[in-house]
Amino acid sequence: MHSPDPMLIEDLVAANRILVDHGVMQAYGHVSARDLKNPERYWLARAMPPVLVTADDLLEFDLDSRPVRPAAPKLYAERAIHGEIFRARPDVVCVVHSHCESLIPFCNTDVKLRPMVGNAGFIGHGAPVFDIRDIDDSGDMNVCTAEQGRGLARSLGAHPLCLMRGHGVVVVGASIREAVRRAVISDANARLQLQALRLGPVKYLTEVEIAYAAKRSGHDTDRGWDLWKKQVLEKI
Ligand code: MN
Repeated sequence: MHSPDPMLIEDLVAANRILVDHGVMQAYGHVSARDLKNPERYWLARAMPPVLVTADDLLEFDLDSRPVRPAAPKLYAERAIHGEIFRARPDVVCVVHSHCESLIPFCNTDVKLRPMVGNAGFIGHGAPVFDIRDIDDSGDMNVCTAEQGRGLARSLGAHPLCLMRGHGVVVVGASIREAVRRAVISDANARLQLQALRLGPVKYLTEVEIAYAAKRSGHDTDRGWDLWKKQVLEKI
């Protein structure tokens, strides 16, 4: 038993609120962070609307998504999303799961989500889509079991995000700020792409531009984060 890095807790509280502030999440959706001092553990809020999350609501989980401290309060049903992605992707420090509406058209059609602008270059040559029917055809769209979580992690592969048919998205990053930034940009990119598709054939980022964006990834990501964090923490 140990105490987490206070900055992890502060940033994870901020991440919950930033994602709501930017319209990525509403009442549902969740964001977790790996404990860098203990990489087999991660932190996630108890089941509650993300905009209300404070430090006291954050709980520690193992990679089987069991709470480390017994007698935990009501928990998010879809914790396996976080545990199985952290297990499959040692490079991932933060997982955002949302039902971001702008992305749903790209979850439920064959139109790939593709990068419209330079800062969306991480989307690459089209975001993968997870279809839960490939794992389990019971009709339940939620990712609650370890098997479903592993299926989602497989669809995610080495990508920074994975769309979920009839459901939403997971976005990951090597830091809380990177995952949050990607989640916010994915939403904006989806809206831009839907607008552009109405006008005619769309000129997406080229191969060279996507490669350039990958080289520059991590450059100047702090400016947005610093502003967004200040904006939400002032409201607590
Ligand atoms: Mn969900």
